[in-house]
Amino acid sequence: MPHVAFLGLGAIGRPMAVRLANAPGVTLTVWNRTRDKAERFAKEHDARAADSPADAARTADVVITCFAVSADVDSVLDGPDGLLAGMRRGTTLVDCTSGDPNSSRRIAGRLDGLGIAFLDAPVSGGTSGAEQGTLTVMVGGDAAVLARVRPVLEPFGTKIVHCGAVGAGDALKSVNNALLAVHVWSAAEGLAALAKAGVRPDVALDVINASSGRSNASMNLFPERVLTRAFPRTFRLALLAKDAGIAAAVAREQKVPAPLLQLTADLFRIAHTSLGEEADHVEAVRLVEQWAGQEIA
Ligand code: NDP
Repeated sequence: MPHVAFLGLGAIGRPMAVRLANAPGVTLTVWNRTRDKAERFAKEHDARAADSPADAARTADVVITCFAVSADVDSVLDGPDGLLAGMRRGTTLVDCTSGDPNSSRRIAGRLDGLGIAFLDAPVSGGTSGAEQGTLTVMVGGDAAVLARVRPVLEPFGTKIVHCGAVGAGDALKSVNNALLAVHVWSAAEGLAALAKAGVRPDVALDVINASSGRSNASMNLFPERVLTRAFPRTFRLALLAKDAGIAAAVAREQKVPAPLLQLTADLFRIAHTSLGEEADHVEAVRLVEQWAGQEIA
């Protein structure tokens, strides 16, 4: 197994890195912008905390980044402490950020000139999937590069799929998450309307989940997070709004009329602005409830 550097110990990056730390034969270095998270990680797991992206990359055959947005990847590339100061020819950057395809293509082009391979490899399955190592990994880039680095992705991913050229993983991930956003929002509108019409949300979900309107939102998110009013913070609304925006942009660039994707991107941007940086994605339901004057409980 190669030496791996993992950068970005956020809500999903951290459990992914834990899986790598626990994988037999992996030598792991971690880096995080807020340094104490990396230091804590190194105390608790078999890993070294690096001082900078360059320091993390210096010994790595594969560097994995998992930041909020593609611009964060750009921001760690350059300068004396940047990734490019540490990465060697023949190494690979695997970006697990749910990024935007155009940024990934631009970054891949830059790295190609330096003899460094790039894969966009966003993940799906949530923080619990990361903890269990059951994420889906959607990969864009050279299939031969993926074949080489696949063993490094297997500790956290069970379904690792080559989706096409660089940017294909990002594009697919954005559409997947736009569907999630549509399902959360439309279920909230429907359940609020039913509650006002006198149908209890638990009864409505029981029927919908045995019928053709069911989704992951109706089957899992609403029963576990909305009806209970638990709203755990596992995936920030800001990030889902970003994904919905990317999906709408992909459709626009491909000249596919996509009014529903655009509306979804707009609604989630409004929800993000209204509910703030730390709100979870399912808390978008709170805005629907506010507009409806009806709690879904
Ligand atoms: P978080 O907001 O929890 O963490 C973001 C991470 O990126 C932190 O480590 C943060 O560092 C780092 N970061 C942010 N900006 C910069 C920057 N400019 N330079 C360096 N580091 C930076 O996000 P998640 O872990 O939830 O998500 C990461 C990616 O995975 C996102 O693209 C998201 O859409 C995707 N994703 C998330 C899922 C989830 O369930 N959470 C599920 C599937 C995909 P710091 O600690 O200093 O803030």
